[in-house]
Amino acid sequence: MFDIVVPTIGRPSLRRLLNSIGRSSGPRPGRIFVVDDRRDRSAPLELGLDADLGQRVTVRAGRAAGPASARNIGWRCSGAVWIAFVDDDVLVGETWLDDLARDLRDLPGDVAASQGRVLVPLPAGRRPTDWERNVAGLATARWITADCAYRRSALLAAGGFDERFRRAYREDADLALRVVARGKRIVRGERRVTHPVGAADWTISVRLQAGNADDALMEALHGRAWRSRAGAPRGAYRQHVGAASAAGIALAACAARRPKVAAIAAAAWALQAVYFAWRRIAPGPRTRGEIAAMLASSVAIPFAAVYHRVRGASGRRGQLADRARAPKPLPRAVLFDRDGTLVVDLPFNRDPDRVEPMPGAASALAMLRAADVPIAVVSNQSGVALGRVTRGDVDALNARIEALLGPLGPVFVCTHGPDDRCRCRKPAPGLLEAAARRLGVRLRDCVVVGDIGADIEAAHAAGARAILVPTAVTRPEEIAAAPLVARDLEHAVRLLLGEEA
Ligand SMILES: [Mg+2]
Repeated sequence: MFDIVVPTIGRPSLRRLLNSIGRSSGPRPGRIFVVDDRRDRSAPLELGLDADLGQRVTVRAGRAAGPASARNIGWRCSGAVWIAFVDDDVLVGETWLDDLARDLRDLPGDVAASQGRVLVPLPAGRRPTDWERNVAGLATARWITADCAYRRSALLAAGGFDERFRRAYREDADLALRVVARGKRIVRGERRVTHPVGAADWTISVRLQAGNADDALMEALHGRAWRSRAGAPRGAYRQHVGAASAAGIALAACAARRPKVAAIAAAAWALQAVYFAWRRIAPGPRTRGEIAAMLASSVAIPFAAVYHRVRGASGRRGQLADRARAPKPLPRAVLFDRDGTLVVDLPFNRDPDRVEPMPGAASALAMLRAADVPIAVVSNQSGVALGRVTRGDVDALNARIEALLGPLGPVFVCTHGPDDRCRCRKPAPGLLEAAARRLGVRLRDCVVVGDIGADIEAAHAAGARAILVPTAVTRPEEIAAAPLVARDLEHAVRLLLGEEA
């Protein structure tokens, strides 16, 4: 029922995690894919597995390109219905496998993921340090992949993790936002993992500011309101900008020999630094070491935060254009032309017995249904306006096509003639707009598949993508003008599903 995917950078905690999975009671996972994302893979990974678990574990080489890339490699190896992602720095409890199976059992089809609960053990008998409180934030964070099981179909539909996120930061919230945008839900399960607080020196809070670059990318991808939708707490970035600006003004005023301005700006900066440090010191253990670490890092953090945000914003254009690392989601719907695309084009045919599917039509539609991609048919039938066929003939033929090819989804027909100046006859976008409305999707998330230039032009007019599947009647200039050309319907669908480039 489920496979487990563990991306790892070779931390010793990997071995402890695998052992904890081995000790856990419950149904065994089908396979465990450990994706070795170390830069240097010359030494083998230390797994230390017992025989039972060992035969289920497969190690796959990562690209040392971060957890998003490593998790993509892992889940794409799996054929299971559910993929449980677990980070290599957590430990699962004694009943975790049982609890996971219970969490996933009988989930409704619109639930795409089940998130586990993360416990961060804090020291007894003293207050937690700033770093310990930071890690403890994981316990309340939403949509984190320290322990999160996704349906494989939802990963396929969303195109997996966005590999433009190179750090273990925001890549999980980004995926969740895209999955939820496709109308799916993410629920919280009852299983628990423990996330011990690792050792870290005082520079950790400064180094973590690199995440500001990912926030810049999140804002570009999901808009400014992404934090509220993802339930991510608003950071202290604005205060950091204030502190860094005050310091900058103080320095500039010094250089310009304006001592008063410099003194005021320096005082403003110092006040903010002390206030920021105090906010981090007050809830902590207030030992001499912690206070020194908080003072030093509180001075450095605003500059690091602003530096990384600016770096992220300036690299954003390149990142957004990086199609190789961007996820390739499935279309939200595929709109098919009828004659010459799904069935052989017999102009003004009224006889259901003469309907002949195009090669590969049945299997192409079956592939889309299996991938949960809705379909619709958009067809020009000017024969009705010309008096050559009746609307009843058209409907009878559509019924026959459905009997041969299976459910077609909603069928939209334009019965106007070429000179009627309607808004529905392709290359006008009207039929496509009606189909998208009925399916509840945006046209820019749809793909139109047709056999002539009018299909492609209608797609462009509507803002949809298009694939041309030429036949003998398709004109060479129409083929030359098409953005994407497939050999046949199966090839077109394989392109859509990302199974062929
Ligand atoms: Mg056609």
